[in-house]
Amino acid sequence: MRDESCIFCKIIAGEIPSRKIYEDEDFQVMLDVSPATKGHALILPKKHYANLYELPEELAGKAMCLAKRMAERMTLLLGCDGFNIVQNNNEVAGQTVFHFHMHLIPRYTADENGEMIWWKAQKFSDEVLDDLAKKLAQK
Ligand code: 5GP
Ligand code: ZN
Repeated sequence: MRDESCIFCKIIAGEIPSRKIYEDEDFQVMLDVSPATKGHALILPKKHYANLYELPEELAGKAMCLAKRMAERMTLLLGCDGFNIVQNNNEVAGQTVFHFHMHLIPRYTADENGEMIWWKAQKFSDEVLDDLAKKLAQK
């Protein structure tokens, strides 16, 4: 389950160096080469799945449990003040490497990134919101 053109598959195979901070049978965690803050790391499944849509449910569950454990451990070791978990899917959502990954981003009071998870709040009419809720709640 490897994609020959995927940079993260090459990292997992040891063909490209990385700063690995954790490994188990399913995942590797490494420091991001272009970090948002001190300690910014990435959780990668060892097998290639392009995004959350492709990731099997069992691995998605394990990835979230690992994110919690890593956040606790990194917070203790780094003394950060908070934590963002970020996960992008498809280009429109900011994904640039198409091998599923979760960003672990330690946050510090003075890290100068402000509100890292940003979006522009939009206004929708009650009618649109009612329709959306109905559509999304359907069985
Ligand atoms: P995305 O935008 O797809 O959610 O995040 C991709 C992340 O992978 C970026 O934060 C980027 O800095 C990181 N990245 C890209 N190439 C490499 C690499 O070769 N090594 C490491 N450690 N991180 C990488
Ligand atoms: Zn890959």
